[in-house]
Amino acid sequence: MHEFTFKNNELYCETIRVGDIAKRIPTPFYLYSYKTLLDHYRKIRRAFSSIKPLICFSVKSNSNLAVLKALVKNGAGLDIVSGGELYRARLVGASPEKIVYAGVGKKADEIGNAIKFGILFFNVESEEELEEIQRIAHSMKKRVRVGLRINPDVIPKTHDYIVTGKGESKFGLDFETAHKIFNSKRRFPNLDICGVHIHIGSQILTSEPFENAIKKVLSFLNKERIPVKYFNIGGGLGIVYSLENPQTAKSFAKKVLPMLKKSRLKIILEPGRFISGNSGVLVTKVIYTKRTPRKKFIIVDSGMNDLLRPSLYEAYHKIVPVKLAENSSDTSERLDVVGPICETGDFLGKDRFLPQLNRGDLLAVMGAGAYGFTMSSNYNSRPRAAEVMVIGKGFHVVRRHENYRDLTRGEVIPRVLR
Ligand SMILES: *Cc1c(COP(=O)(O)O)cnc(C)c1O
Repeated sequence: MHEFTFKNNELYCETIRVGDIAKRIPTPFYLYSYKTLLDHYRKIRRAFSSIKPLICFSVKSNSNLAVLKALVKNGAGLDIVSGGELYRARLVGASPEKIVYAGVGKKADEIGNAIKFGILFFNVESEEELEEIQRIAHSMKKRVRVGLRINPDVIPKTHDYIVTGKGESKFGLDFETAHKIFNSKRRFPNLDICGVHIHIGSQILTSEPFENAIKKVLSFLNKERIPVKYFNIGGGLGIVYSLENPQTAKSFAKKVLPMLKKSRLKIILEPGRFISGNSGVLVTKVIYTKRTPRKKFIIVDSGMNDLLRPSLYEAYHKIVPVKLAENSSDTSERLDVVGPICETGDFLGKDRFLPQLNRGDLLAVMGAGAYGFTMSSNYNSRPRAAEVMVIGKGFHVVRRHENYRDLTRGEVIPRVLR
């Protein structure tokens, strides 16, 4: 469910006409619904309320400060994967004891800053990283909590690029190595190895892979009698982009809660897409329509630099006109919605059937709230899109669109070239 709906053939975000926002904000822009964001956060919180988990929103899915602030203000913690995300977490006043930090390549300064800030724990992905955190903690005379990220070797059915819990992936530690580490805790006197972590992939539609992974980890902890306090079960809950039928927060909870309750561990969840995905759309304008002998194209003012998912994962995003003409119906003509970027892979939608479109018409690319703006770039020297959030009766620019000066910020022509 989300708050982008049609009334009288016009697309609204909550109670505001998207077309009215586009009169004030130049396209392309991302548009977020505060209500949808909070609704999804509360859905997952409610589903797991019987065990009062810590819900750490995955910052990489949408790291806009207004999005983070909205969630933090309502009690969410944050799941970060870089020093830059830690910086954002601090800017929105996140409590350190609600921050967990994952990622395979944490650098010394990033680790030091996170220790200084006092985060809840690091999700450690290799032995060398553990040694590095030990070294830094020792030099800072601190005791630091860590969880071991375990790669449970399960294969969820999703796009290959977003599977993370398969044996061959770069993420996490295999059970044997984890066991070895738990048995050699004395090597890490400054570390409190108090948790285990899994994150098996993204856009996972059924609860079985989660159940399998959780079962594997819990039986490992039981069998080896490993005493930990926290079990971070990661994120990865799938959402509806087109015809998917993902598990709901409630049905997911129903499947995994019995095991989790029995474990008596403090549970952490790290949903990203589930909270932010359907809370945002990308609004773009038709620049040209073009017909070749083989195909019809709608060329819009937004492309793979704004929304990379179609190009990178062949991800499907529903595309709808912001305003439907009276009794318009989809034409029988198959068309591609493409961007202005000089790459064949630059498309937002392929083989779509849309109503008749003309230059200047607005389109909304749905389900763009997660891994949308955060994956955007300046490729082709295109300034990045604005981000706008509807909150209650008003809308707010939560990131202005970039200008040409932003494009060259930090660049220098050395004197020898002048
Ligand atoms: C990306 C990521 C998440 C969030 O994944 P979603 O599929 O957006 O829920 C959670 N935990 C970790 C460690 C991640 O890297």
